[in-house]
Amino acid sequence: MEEATTSSTPSKNPSYSDRDFRISKENLFMVIAKHMEEFPVKRLDIGKYERVGAVLVLPNDMIHAVDCSRNGVHGVARLLMAHQDNLKDCKVFVSRKPCSLCTKLLVQSKVKRVFYLPIEPEYDYLRREGKNDDDFADETSRVDELFKVSSIGQSVFVPRAGQDVTDVAESKAKTPKKDREAKQKYLMENKYWNDEWIKVAQLKLPWRAFDDNMRAQVYKDFESITEWMAHVLIKSEIGDSFEAVTRKESMSFDPCSNDLERRQAIHFMKLAFFLAERTDDPRKGVGAVIVNNCKDVVGLGWNGFPTKSLYGEFPRAADKDPPVEGRVDKKYSYIIHAEQNALLMRNTKNIVDSTLIVTMTPCDDCTPLIEMQGIKTVVLGEKMRRDTRGLMNFTKFPQWVDDKDDPIVCFELQKQPQSQERKADDDSSVKKGEIESARKQLFTKT
Ligand SMILES: [Zn+2]
Ligand SMILES: [Zn+2]
Repeated sequence: MEEATTSSTPSKNPSYSDRDFRISKENLFMVIAKHMEEFPVKRLDIGKYERVGAVLVLPNDMIHAVDCSRNGVHGVARLLMAHQDNLKDCKVFVSRKPCSLCTKLLVQSKVKRVFYLPIEPEYDYLRREGKNDDDFADETSRVDELFKVSSIGQSVFVPRAGQDVTDVAESKAKTPKKDREAKQKYLMENKYWNDEWIKVAQLKLPWRAFDDNMRAQVYKDFESITEWMAHVLIKSEIGDSFEAVTRKESMSFDPCSNDLERRQAIHFMKLAFFLAERTDDPRKGVGAVIVNNCKDVVGLGWNGFPTKSLYGEFPRAADKDPPVEGRVDKKYSYIIHAEQNALLMRNTKNIVDSTLIVTMTPCDDCTPLIEMQGIKTVVLGEKMRRDTRGLMNFTKFPQWVDDKDDPIVCFELQKQPQSQERKADDDSSVKKGEIESARKQLFTKT
């Protein structure tokens, strides 16, 4: 009977009833894999191999872990070694086609499927440096042979974001068009599209179906995903330094005085902003990343309704929304916060002395959970809130940060004066239509 009453919808739709378009999980995972390639480290030490980022996804489609090549170990190998007890039937998203060493480990670990971008493979130095193509071809055939004899599927994955996805994201948080275009151009030219490589990609991957028409489509898809990425990155790049709200004698993570950790914190904050785009909260996306002392990501989460719940199963209205037909039930009791998801879905038991990087201040429900698990450092993507209004309160976190005896160490991302940062971007900004004309040129050349 409930059905009958709710079907007579109010005359004007409140915003929370909108069913938003958001980035699909697969596309997000591939974006994160590529993002992880840039994780700042002290020692890379992987020889001539291209750097690789990788994402491990459980059979139930939950993101389990992310890593990248560092300290002498390739990204895929690191991921598999760290999560050796949890690999069966997993999917692995890798930024590049893996080398034979990584493929060997993938095959042995019984993962189900491996996806990679159609950009230069991990072993691309063999092509760039080889006098002839033999070394590169040999490595390619070793990799393909390993995949062939195993039951693992390997697929080239071309990420894309529908225009509706980017439009919805943009309608929730506006970013300057000029900045977005400049950022997109940068991403295309430096991360995704290499003219010289893409011409030989058909033969090198191997990717038989990849003809001129498909090449044009891949370019378009890359443009769409980089436009979406540009939106998210600009949202996250409100500053590039942190201020300590509290300090301690010895700190496990210090993005204020340690420059490497500052850059790492920025990197994780961007990752958290990417995760936040998967929210199904109609108003506010929140992303959280938990990182241990070795800078391994041990937990990832965004805020949302219970996994696999369908649209409309739970109330979606916020405090500000008026009650509809006498119903005052609000979303707060049903949304699992990003911090709660990151803690629950974490990939290792002990996270004592880990650091939480989160786009928003933890609320009164989350703060005791964070502290109970031994997290003593929190990096915020905003100025610490101290609000007490509404159904969500932010009183405990600031109290515990202010605690004289045993404070939670807290850092805030510092907002940069807009003019400075924007100006830097302006210098490299694109003239209107430049991307479009570059694209036309590219496809008339051949
Ligand atoms: Zn490798
Ligand atoms: Zn919370």
